[in-house]
Amino acid sequence: MPSKTDQCKELSHYKGKYNRVWIPDAEHVWKSAEILTDFKSGDTVLEIQLEDGTELQYPLEGGEKLPPLRNPDILVGENDLTALSYLHEPAVLHNLKVRFVESKIIYTYCGIILVAVNPYKQLPIYGDAVIHAYAGQNMGDLDPHIFAVAEEAYKQMARNNKNQSIIVSGESGAGKTVSARYAMRYFAVVSKSGSKTRVEDKVLASNPITEAIGNAKTTRNDNSSRFGKYTEISFDKRYQIIGANMRTYLLEKSRVVFQSENERNYHIFYQLCACANQPEFKDLRLLGADRFNYTCLGGETEIEGVDDHADMAETRRTFSLLGLKDSFQADVFKVLAAILHLGNVKIKENGSEKSSIGSRDPHLSIFCELMGVSMDNMCRWLCHRRIVLSAETVVKPQPKERAINARDALAKHIYAHLFDWVIHKINQALMVPGKQHSFIGVLDIYGFETFDINSFEQFCINYANEKLQQQFNLHVFKLEQEEYMKEDIPWTLIDFYDNQPVIDLIEAKMGILDLLDEECLFPQGTDKNWLQKLYNFLGSNLHFEKPRMSNDSFVIQHFADKVEYQCKGFLEKNRDTLYEELVDIMRTSQFAVLADFFKEKESNSGQKIIKVTPAQPRVKASNKQLRTTVGDKFRSSLYLLMETLNATTPHYVRCIKPNEEKQPFEYDSKRVVQQLRACGVLETIRISAQSYPSR
Ligand code: ADP
Ligand code: MG
Repeated sequence: MPSKTDQCKELSHYKGKYNRVWIPDAEHVWKSAEILTDFKSGDTVLEIQLEDGTELQYPLEGGEKLPPLRNPDILVGENDLTALSYLHEPAVLHNLKVRFVESKIIYTYCGIILVAVNPYKQLPIYGDAVIHAYAGQNMGDLDPHIFAVAEEAYKQMARNNKNQSIIVSGESGAGKTVSARYAMRYFAVVSKSGSKTRVEDKVLASNPITEAIGNAKTTRNDNSSRFGKYTEISFDKRYQIIGANMRTYLLEKSRVVFQSENERNYHIFYQLCACANQPEFKDLRLLGADRFNYTCLGGETEIEGVDDHADMAETRRTFSLLGLKDSFQADVFKVLAAILHLGNVKIKENGSEKSSIGSRDPHLSIFCELMGVSMDNMCRWLCHRRIVLSAETVVKPQPKERAINARDALAKHIYAHLFDWVIHKINQALMVPGKQHSFIGVLDIYGFETFDINSFEQFCINYANEKLQQQFNLHVFKLEQEEYMKEDIPWTLIDFYDNQPVIDLIEAKMGILDLLDEECLFPQGTDKNWLQKLYNFLGSNLHFEKPRMSNDSFVIQHFADKVEYQCKGFLEKNRDTLYEELVDIMRTSQFAVLADFFKEKESNSGQKIIKVTPAQPRVKASNKQLRTTVGDKFRSSLYLLMETLNATTPHYVRCIKPNEEKQPFEYDSKRVVQQLRACGVLETIRISAQSYPSR
């Protein structure tokens, strides 16, 4: 069998029956061709023929850079890509395509990774009968499936007495949340304890609620999760589910006050507005979603095929199933309604420097009534600020734009606290009563992102993906090592890509995040000043670049790709400040829930604050730093996540979005290859290809 290693050296294979190759193609990424003549070392061109009969001269760069070889047909369509003779990008791309388009198979193994291509069509492969078919089976014995991965995790938990995790990644709309849900359902079904509790149902019920408050319609996905989630499912000694716990990451708060065209705010707002006329919501003075600013900025307020009214019933049913009573639900809806009314508060411009709100603004009045705060205070402190000078404090009017910012910041903060509170309540409801014997964690987190304009959000997401990629690399490396030991193969150093330098660039002392936090401490700090510091301090870093054509951005060489980030907005997003005056008003609210949201820092809406020792010892720039920044908090939460993942046996699922149009079984090679490159599948292949021939 031909070796999978460095094929350029295997010249003999370019003769005889192994004369079929892949050549780069603008449209299909790779296309098939046959070599017509024998290749001799030193040749600068290859005579080749395309499948349509066209003959071409294929230039050989650097003398011996031969095109990748095609696999024998008999191997195409394999369940596991690592079974292919030639393992490289075109082989992976082609094999996935043949399975997906011709055989309508969405799952394929690539070594330890399960690749899942979104079919955009309901398939009859998820029923309980299928779950039972996978239960107790070995991973390689049945067709690749998310259930097979779940079974493997379940089995290893029981066999090795070790916690497991299933790490699902992919870009927006690729199918992460659906996969995570199926994995959870698998555990619920196989571990069914029979009669007594219904804890499995409760664990599953957490999904519709988190989706109602954390998912929204975007242009890429009608049900896009706007936060990351790690759900730990707890098992007892008999490996039956006894509870669960969720940790969430980086909720997209900006969506609460702004939506781009054709996008929506969080589903829950529309569910509530769809029930505006129900008597129990009378006091909330709700309107249709088209009449609240915060729900109509994206235009269309409805999603085809979604019934917000019916979904509200489902949301409430699941709240109840979790034991979250009507009174709790009423509080949640009250806060949501208050946010909607806040968004409709009219702020008038009084000259260029001042703004004001009518003393009888109907929406502010409802907000104040619902939230138990003073109308006078709100009117005043949305449009003014206290400025502390050395000798005195003066009250300074704020221009309209600032007042609107203050209002929106308040809305975002209230929503974020509400989100955390609901998650906390779900966690309480799912809290393990007895002793947890072991757990399986399911991570549903946004994959590597690169857009035309990349900002703080992409920066954080890509930072998270660097960490996950490193975790993955180290795991693969460890497996290889174990394999060597088992087979008594003399130690060979395999070269694998370690992305620690990029991670250091971001999170180490005086790295990008530290410099950002430092700039945020200066009242006069600006995005531009910060960027200048990045250029000065990090300019010589191999993974950092100042773009030649821009003074507003910086470039990071990530494991997956180069990404250019625009500096505009980084400081504001990292600080995420709310005017102190408004916080004070919230703290004195008559509505205990709201007052609690804004209580002095000791607790963050009831969530335990866990002291985290950062990966790198860092000095706090100054004790003036009252609040932790978003970046700092994210760094700590990632550190904790990595610690958790590293203490488990990981299983990897990579979801692929096969086309932009959400068309069933359409395979756009260009889009697929982009994702394969970004999610580390190809990198894995490179690592495996290096080590397999020696076995
Ligand atoms: P992500 O979480 O990666 O953004 P989702 O899991 O929400 O993406 O999936 C987006 C949409 O794709 C789903 O709403 C569903 O319509 C479709 N989809 C994803 N996975 C599957 C699947 N296994 N079978 C059928 N449809 C799927
Ligand atoms: Mg999702």
